[in-house]
Amino acid sequence: MRISTILLAAVCSTLPSLTLCIDNATTQACNSLKLIFNTKLFFPGDANYTSENEHFWTPTDYLSPACVFAPEGASDVSAAVKFLSKLRATFAVRGGGHMPIPGYANIDGGVLIGLTNLRQIQLSEDKSYVSIGPGLRWEEVYDYLEPYGLIALGGRVGSVGVPGLLLGGGISFYSNQYGFASDNVIAYEVVLASGQIVTANSTQYSDLFWALKGGGNSFGIVTRFDLLTYSSPTICAGITEIPSTEKGAFLSAVANFGQYGDADSKAAVIPSIFMLGSLNLTVYTSALFYDGTNCSQSALANFTAIPSIMNTYGSTTLAAYVKGTDALIADGTRQAFRVMSSFANAESLEIVHDTFVEMVTTEIWNITGLQASVAFQPVTRNFIQQGISKGGNPQAVDLESAPYFWMVENFSWTDSADDDRIFAFAVEVTAVIEGKLEAAGQAAKYKYMNDAGLGQQIFQNYGPGNLVKLKAIRAKYDPFNVYTDLMPGGWKVDG
Ligand SMILES: Cc1cc2nc3c(=O)[nH]c(=O)nc-3n(C[C@H](O)[C@H](O)[C@H](O)COP(=O)(O)OP(=O)(O)OC[C@H]3O[C@@H](n4cnc5c(N)ncnc54)[C@H](O)[C@@H]3O)c2cc1C
Repeated sequence: MRISTILLAAVCSTLPSLTLCIDNATTQACNSLKLIFNTKLFFPGDANYTSENEHFWTPTDYLSPACVFAPEGASDVSAAVKFLSKLRATFAVRGGGHMPIPGYANIDGGVLIGLTNLRQIQLSEDKSYVSIGPGLRWEEVYDYLEPYGLIALGGRVGSVGVPGLLLGGGISFYSNQYGFASDNVIAYEVVLASGQIVTANSTQYSDLFWALKGGGNSFGIVTRFDLLTYSSPTICAGITEIPSTEKGAFLSAVANFGQYGDADSKAAVIPSIFMLGSLNLTVYTSALFYDGTNCSQSALANFTAIPSIMNTYGSTTLAAYVKGTDALIADGTRQAFRVMSSFANAESLEIVHDTFVEMVTTEIWNITGLQASVAFQPVTRNFIQQGISKGGNPQAVDLESAPYFWMVENFSWTDSADDDRIFAFAVEVTAVIEGKLEAAGQAAKYKYMNDAGLGQQIFQNYGPGNLVKLKAIRAKYDPFNVYTDLMPGGWKVDG
């Protein structure tokens, strides 16, 4: 027995990619972590294994990790990374579990590191920033800040996790004023591939600091984000639902906001086409937002003037608003995202609207439990300018061609037997729409990582030279590809 273990170790040191070696490395990693961390390590059959493995927005992300490690601090993460890297064992890292791409924050047969218990949150003494652990969701951050009349830039849905959103950029209701959520991060505590715990900010590890503002999970495991706060004690927010008979008025309101959203940067909207197969229904929904106490704002008048089926827009707080919308976007159904991007005008809206509605109704309308939507996220010049003014980010979205619509297609269904059909359709409809946008001269380059689907090109569309720079930073801090080869899930700059 001992001889075969020694033999296997010898073979695996020269051929670490053999399945036998990977399996052996994972078994050793799980067993070693169990010995050291005991109550923080779970195997299949443990209730905690199941809850960590199902701590995802969609069951398409539930996989079969060999074991689950639930660290309680940066030093636990550091110790685990040292072990996993030494043994060349594969692993995945999960924050809030909202990225709906199977295998991007979970793993079959490897170690799942669930950051659930890294839940620290602390406002700085001068209240100018808040330090947040990666186990928190945005609604918990907003709840914590509410008594101070403060907000931080994060998800527009409360259940979304803090870390994934910030590592891809982060579109907030306040982005029109302050840029990407990540433009407002002033420091990251990071566990490097070596296990070393460092703080990256504008003066130390400044290349890593820049890379983390949109470079994804290729560089390290972030165990703390220091995020700027802003005063916003009361807001106006809510959702309107508009019948499809109002298509003209709706698309005109969206086009207008897309083009002139800069005029009042305290306003934000998320207008969507929302289609329900089982009810043979298409409606338009819009989240409306204003950072202030007076809810009658001309910036939103084109939306509020349209006759609606339902309208909840009114005075509230950010924490209360996101809590109220949680139920509308509950966990538990199968989900897929796909991202597209265009210049912000009526022509591109019409192309996306008509092609999407037509293809969904003719090709997938009969899929059980089908919900299909496209959200048109207006991205103003000020949004992009904010990132530049705050020191720049790897996305480096082209300011000259702004404003844009960054569009996310979302498909939701109930039967796993339909997975392949939906995934194939998502790819097809996106390609058809992008082809038409391209032909009309309306296709924009940048694609937002956090709304993307498997196989879409992300880093290739970042600002000129930035992918090369990201690869160099990755190689500098992770020369043995720990966060690329051993942690294969996620958007990789060297993927
Ligand atoms: C319902 C819903 C609403 C959304 N709303 C918004 C929105 O308003 N604005 C917006 O910008 N986006 C939004 N998104 C997209 C969202 O930003 C991404 O899905 C994001 O990845 C979610 O973060 P998470 O921590 O929950 O993700 P996870 O699925 O846990 O992780 C995503 C990726 O980040 C990696 N990762 C997680 N934690 C760490 C860490 N600490 N260190 C290193 N890598 C890590 C994972 O390995 C994985 O590859 C929404 C998504 C959903 C499903």
